[in-house]
Amino acid sequence: MSQTRLWETFSSLITIDSPSFKERLFCDALKERLNALGVETYEDSAGESIGGDCGNLHGFLPGSLSLPPLLFSAHMDTVEPGRGKRAVLGEEGRITSAGDTILGADDAAGIAAILEALTRLKERNLPHRPIELLFPVAEERYGLGSAVADYGRIHAKEAYTLDLGGAIGEAAHAAPTLLAFEITVTGKAAHAGFAPKEGIHAIAAAAKSIARIPVGEPEPGVTCNIGGIEGGEAANIIPALCRVSGEIRSLSHAKVLAWWEAVQAIFEEEARAAGARIAAEGRCEITAYETPLSSPVVRRFKEACQKTGVAASIHPTLGGSDQNNFAQHGIEGLVIACSMHDVHSTREYANLNEIQQCAELVLALILEEVP
Ligand SMILES: [Zn+2]
Repeated sequence: MSQTRLWETFSSLITIDSPSFKERLFCDALKERLNALGVETYEDSAGESIGGDCGNLHGFLPGSLSLPPLLFSAHMDTVEPGRGKRAVLGEEGRITSAGDTILGADDAAGIAAILEALTRLKERNLPHRPIELLFPVAEERYGLGSAVADYGRIHAKEAYTLDLGGAIGEAAHAAPTLLAFEITVTGKAAHAGFAPKEGIHAIAAAAKSIARIPVGEPEPGVTCNIGGIEGGEAANIIPALCRVSGEIRSLSHAKVLAWWEAVQAIFEEEARAAGARIAAEGRCEITAYETPLSSPVVRRFKEACQKTGVAASIHPTLGGSDQNNFAQHGIEGLVIACSMHDVHSTREYANLNEIQQCAELVLALILEEVP
């Protein structure tokens, strides 16, 4: 495969700003590239429903083989600082940003690999199965874009999402439920010096609750964190309000819900003892899935890795991706490594050789005849 072409694709995608909810320019450029490859595109209305300037971009490439379609996906948005990005090619194919922004290999590396595989497919005029593509917006916001994708347009029951760190050949087949919560403890304000007995101390009640919550890993396979606390007005006022935020995650959806119940019960108990009350709000930002290792989507991946000469390594991940949403719509899938390292930092880097390997792997997946 042509590395010059791959570098051109990757580095030019990197120069287009696409922070979450502002993917418009990126989407237009990608649409143009896909159409030039003979891929029919369709933009859904996700932008309107989530308050962004752009929808998810769908792509369809009919196949000559009568095998079921496969879905390939990589998200269009990036985290910040992601404006004015530039890709800098160093030794041995290492690609970094100019230092003041993220690189955005998360997830332009995945998109570049898909484009290169499709280009190769077209050049060689190879017989292949139907291909469906989905380039979601706002993945970095707990997959908001793919949560509202137009699933009526997606017929594939199996997906490969290019959005994982690690060596090419690594893949995630399971990811957790992540429940984010906020608990507000309401007590009663009073002057701390003149009327100390008239107040109900919201911060003290919250603190007692937090002290009883087993933050960290309350049981194997479950993590629980209190990540924020705020409240109080002034040093001489007994605080009437205290807000506590946190998260619980586990590969087991049921365990997350059980620990969320436990956390609320502790807060309720301590609030009641203090004469305070609580309002608790928990939201599953992502929902767990597990693709069975016996699934064709896994077997096909292993075959394709072997043909590409990379070692397949399949394991659960603790991060979410668009696959969490695909699974909710009955699409089994793997999230596969596509050359992104130290993501969400200005140290983020990729490697041109790895992106090329990934493109070869995508092509092998497209051509693989495991039904
Ligand atoms: Zn990503």
